[in-house]
Amino acid sequence: SADHVTVSMGAALAPRDGLAAEDLLRKADIALYDAKSNGRNRWSFFEPSMQEHVRTKDEIARELRKAIDEDLLDVAYQPQCDSRSGRIVAIEALARWNRRNTGPVPPSSFIPVAEETGLINDLGLWILRRACQDAHCWPDLVVSVNVSPTQFKHPGFVEKVSATLEEFAFDPGRLEIEVTETVFAGRDKKALQSLRRLKDLGIKVALDDFGSGYSSLSYLRHFPFDTLKIDRDFISAMTDSPEARAIVRTIIRLGQALGMTIVAEGIEEKQQAEYLAANGCHRLQGYFLSHPLPAKDLDEFLADHEIQMEMKHQSLEVERLRSAEF
Ligand code: C2E
Ligand code: MG
Ligand code: MG
Repeated sequence: SADHVTVSMGAALAPRDGLAAEDLLRKADIALYDAKSNGRNRWSFFEPSMQEHVRTKDEIARELRKAIDEDLLDVAYQPQCDSRSGRIVAIEALARWNRRNTGPVPPSSFIPVAEETGLINDLGLWILRRACQDAHCWPDLVVSVNVSPTQFKHPGFVEKVSATLEEFAFDPGRLEIEVTETVFAGRDKKALQSLRRLKDLGIKVALDDFGSGYSSLSYLRHFPFDTLKIDRDFISAMTDSPEARAIVRTIIRLGQALGMTIVAEGIEEKQQAEYLAANGCHRLQGYFLSHPLPAKDLDEFLADHEIQMEMKHQSLEVERLRSAEF
C-alpha cells in the first residue's frame, strides 16, 4: 500500500571529513541530500564530490537571483501554427539565461534550481512581464507561459498576474498558462483554487506534457483545462511506433470530446505534422516549424511565414483554375 515510511540517511565520518561538530553535521546533511536525490530509502556517506554539486547549485541560485534583479534573463518565443490554415496563432514563452562566463544554461538545469530555492516565483513573474511587454507587437497571437506548481501556492500570485495584465493592457483571453500535472501533487487545494481564479479572470489554462506522468486521465476530471499539450515523447515515437500513433489519435479524440484545444509539441518532421493535422490536432509546435526565437527575430519569421502562406494559397488557386479549365 502507499502507507509505508522510507528512511534516507546521510553520514559523515570523523576525523576523515572533519572534527568540528558543525562541519560534520553540514557534510552529513549534504550526504543526506545525495541519498534523497538518488532515490530515497538508502544511505550515503559524505564525499567531496557531493560538495561540488551543492556548491554549483548555490552558485547557480546566487547568479540567477542577480540575473533576475538586473534583467539579464531573456525570453524566446516558439511559434505554433493552426493545423488547418497554417497561420501562426500562438507562441510559447520560454525562459533563457545567458550566464556570464559560462554561456547559455538550459532551462532544464536552472528551472529546477529556481523551484527548489523559491526563486521561481520572481523568475516566473519576470517572464510573464516580459512576455506581456513583447507580445504587444503581436496582437493576434495567444501567448503561452509556463508556470511552476510552487508559484500557485505563493501568496498573491493571482493578484500579481492580474496586475501585470492590467499594467500592460493585455487581454486575459490571450494569455494561456501552462501547468504540468505535478500541480496536483499532494493534497494542497491551494494550487487548484488559484487555477480556478485565473480561469475566472478569463485566462486560458493548458495541461502541458500530457501523458508523460502517472495518472493524467483523472486530472482531466479535476479541472476544466482549455488546452491539452501532447507530450513530445509521443510525437517523436510516432514515426516508428504504430502504438504511439494510436495513443496520439486517441488523445486528440479525448481532448475533442472534452471540448479542448489540442496542441502537439516537439514536432520535428513534416510527416508528423501532416499526420497530426489529418487527425484533427488543432495547433502544431516544434522545430519543423521553428525553433524558439528571440523577440527581434520573431517579427521577421512571422512576415516570412505570411508570405509563404500567401504564395501557397496563390499556387493552390492557380491549380484550381487550371483544373477547372480542363
Ligand atoms: P516545455 O514547457 O514542455 O517546453 C517545450 C520544450 O521543448 C522547450 O525546451 C522547447 O525548446 C523544446 N522543443 C520545442 N520544439 C522541439 C522539437 O521539435 N524537438 C525537441 N527536441 N525539443 C523541442 P526548453 O526551452 O529547453 O524548456 C524546457 C522546459 O523548461 C520547458 O518544457 C518547461 O517545463 C521549462 N521552462 C522553460 N521556460 C520556463 C519558464 O519560464 N517557467 C517555468 N516554470 N518553466 C519553464
Ligand atoms: Mg510548456
Ligand atoms: Mg511541454
